[in-house]
Amino acid sequence: MNRRIFRYMALLVLLTAASFLLLLFTFSGNLGAEIKGSLRTLRVTLIASDGAVLFDNRASAEGMENHLGRPEVQEALQKGYGESERLSGTLGETTRYYAMRLNDGNILRLALTASGAQSLAARLLPLLLFCLLAAALAAFLMARVLTRRLVGPINAIDLDDPDIGPYEELLPFIQRMERQKRELAGRRSDLEEREETLRMIMQSVHEGLILIDGHGKVRMANLSALEILGAKEAAGRNIVELCRDADFLEKLRMCREGARTEMVFRKEDRIYSVFFNPARGEESASGTMILFVDTTERYTAEAQRKEFSANVSHELKTPLTTISALSEMIAGGQVKPEDLSRFGEKIHAQSRRLISTIEDIIRLSEFDEGNAAREFCRFDLKELAASVAEALQDKAAKQGISVEVERGEPLMVTANRRMIDELLYNLIDNAITYNRAGGSVSVSLKEEEGFRVIAVRDTGIGIAKTHLGRIFERFYRVDKSRSKRTGGTGLGLSIVKHIAEFHGGRVELTSEEGKGSCVRCFIRGKEA
Ligand code: ADP
Repeated sequence: MNRRIFRYMALLVLLTAASFLLLLFTFSGNLGAEIKGSLRTLRVTLIASDGAVLFDNRASAEGMENHLGRPEVQEALQKGYGESERLSGTLGETTRYYAMRLNDGNILRLALTASGAQSLAARLLPLLLFCLLAAALAAFLMARVLTRRLVGPINAIDLDDPDIGPYEELLPFIQRMERQKRELAGRRSDLEEREETLRMIMQSVHEGLILIDGHGKVRMANLSALEILGAKEAAGRNIVELCRDADFLEKLRMCREGARTEMVFRKEDRIYSVFFNPARGEESASGTMILFVDTTERYTAEAQRKEFSANVSHELKTPLTTISALSEMIAGGQVKPEDLSRFGEKIHAQSRRLISTIEDIIRLSEFDEGNAAREFCRFDLKELAASVAEALQDKAAKQGISVEVERGEPLMVTANRRMIDELLYNLIDNAITYNRAGGSVSVSLKEEEGFRVIAVRDTGIGIAKTHLGRIFERFYRVDKSRSKRTGGTGLGLSIVKHIAEFHGGRVELTSEEGKGSCVRCFIRGKEA
């Protein structure tokens, strides 16, 4: 490469020298010709020491005035030579004079008009300009060609398959670049791998996870977090844009001051426990890791448990209070002998109610703890439904309600017979209880989508839409007094739902207030 640059530089210097010589040669040739021409216009005057003009090549000497007063003549007489410039009376042009004293005392004066000198310069100027322009153009073109030749091979080097061509000096540089390129590629793939691992961790976490930097900017957020905050994209945005909850922002502020904080955050119908953890990176500003854990089910279950305990106490206390009061009256001899049997009946009824509530609670707790008996047997659903309807026939008849059970081909099922008995009993009992006088109940049994479907329809009071969502909750009753009057515990439908789910199925309820209801239980043919 050095040799190549040297060669080009030397070539440039040579070319410059050659053009300079050419310019000199052309200029001197033209200058000679021009001088020759201007010599022809030269005026020569010979003046005697007294100022008389002895000879003039441009005018007749006789007619000319005495030249002693001319400044150049005066100067020449004193110093041996003199110069001046002025308007010539003889030539009528601005003229430059040069006078010298000759050995014989005479003065020889040479004069050149300004126009002669100017024309010389004017004639030489275009040539000079042309030469300069030509030299500049040649230098420009030369520089361009040489630069291309110098840079071309460098540009042509393929870094993936380096062939350094004439520039062997570039070899160490290219080799270093190649090494760095390999290192960079290695580091990039390392980084990509780490990023992918981090992304996998973030996305595989079911909980919402957000990492924000010390300025509140989101560095990373997984899909769950985006869903919770209702955002499409979070990276790069400030957390304040994503969540404006005052408590949330306060907890975040406290965490940024170094404290681990947590809060309960409600969004739509979900409840989240949010944990704020200080996250220190290499940067001086500390970030925060925010974790959203969906605790809706836990909260709801806890709330339901609390409500259930309160309900249980209430449901047990009411009949017990009645029993206690009645028995106290009997013990205190306040009851007449003829009223004793009525009091006894009341105590019995309240005890029965107490027992059935306790039995229902026990059954539900068995389901809760997964202890429900898995005693499965094969039996005909239609036959069981008919026997349950038969058992409730008296109750139905008292209210003038007809109960109809679908007959025909047996519909076999492998299930817990005692549970299905209870399920049918609860449904048919409700259909009679919440019916109106003269109404009807129909029970249909069939196979659908791999399930045995028990449907109990009635033409009763129906259930308003507002209650439909809660009707399967424990102790939930639409009309408390009616339910209690008829001996209901408020746990029947809840047990029905558990029995259906225990058999791998579900319950569906449709109802229209004032027209009637239909409960459909889906039960798998075999153990779930
Ligand atoms: P209960 O022991 O009070 O009958 P359930 O759990 O069986 O308790 O039913 C809960 C509530 O649902 C009842 O109190 C009643 O208000 C309503 N309900 C149940 N079945 C029917 C039905 N077939 N028609 C109208 N309301 C009903």
